[in-house]
Amino acid sequence: MMDNSGTRTFPWGHDRRFNAYSNYFRKIFGGRVQKLSIDAGFTCPNRDGTLGTGGCSFCNNDAFSPSYCNPETSITEQLDKGIRFHARRYRKSVAYLAYFQSYTNTYAGLDELKRKYEEALRYPGVTGLIIGTRPDCINNELLDYLSYLSASYYLAIEYGIESCYDRTLERVKRGHDFACSVSALERTAAKGINTGAHFIFGLPGESRQDMMNEATIISDLPLKTVKFHQLQIIAGTGMEKEYLSRPQDFELFTWEEYREFFIRFLEKLNPEIIVERLTGESSPGLIRNRRWGNMRSEEMTRLFEQRLEELDTWQGRLYRKKGNTTNKEM
Ligand code: SF4
Repeated sequence: MMDNSGTRTFPWGHDRRFNAYSNYFRKIFGGRVQKLSIDAGFTCPNRDGTLGTGGCSFCNNDAFSPSYCNPETSITEQLDKGIRFHARRYRKSVAYLAYFQSYTNTYAGLDELKRKYEEALRYPGVTGLIIGTRPDCINNELLDYLSYLSASYYLAIEYGIESCYDRTLERVKRGHDFACSVSALERTAAKGINTGAHFIFGLPGESRQDMMNEATIISDLPLKTVKFHQLQIIAGTGMEKEYLSRPQDFELFTWEEYREFFIRFLEKLNPEIIVERLTGESSPGLIRNRRWGNMRSEEMTRLFEQRLEELDTWQGRLYRKKGNTTNKEM
């Protein structure tokens, strides 16, 4: 589609070739929005013995928690530090979202959750919450409360789903199946709360075709936003041991392979789903497999967009709505 100035625009209303998260926030808030990560001192049922003690085999929270997150300090203090940290790297934000990121951020009684969420919401400039959790750690009482909050604040629950295949979820010791993820997304969306999800490409036992087929499955989920990343083998995880003893079980992507795979994947993905991340970025010192040079995620996104341009393709170009059997380009 072309606008009046002859610039090509896509179904999401701008000229980037995928439905980008930053543009979505700019549209809602009228400027740059900064997420501020918080470690509110929660644990997770896959670590405290309720479901297991070793955690999911790929998980080491230290790999992605920013340095300013410290559960020993208050939420207010972490927000203070987060604002100062980001002010050094980025231009001024018009709004902040408190991102309850580490471990399972709905894994406590409702009173404790309310106390923590509301402390973040009282911080000047914080206009909403993003709550990272597992799909088996929500309940109707909590969803009702978050739905009530969402009338006044931006509210999103971000679920770690990781794979659409039960055999993979079992292998990585998630402790829940895919049906549980679908049910959590449906219940959350039904309450009018924004839904997010996280997926990993390259988990052991999945072929490239299995991963590509997830584009169709994910497209049918009631999802607002999604994060994708390539599997990275992180020090101190169960997966590190598995990788060192049976490397032949892992089909890890090179950067070029991932770029080409992900472009084909995006072409099949529902254009209404907002894409927050195309690749993952963990602390370099903790990555045990071969790294993709020293590229930061901003640089990878730029290269993806350059490649989309070269191929003259875009998110959803080959997406087919369920029940529509014609192979019409979007
Ligand atoms: S990925 Fe999430 S659910 Fe799994 S062990 Fe880590 S914190 Fe727990």
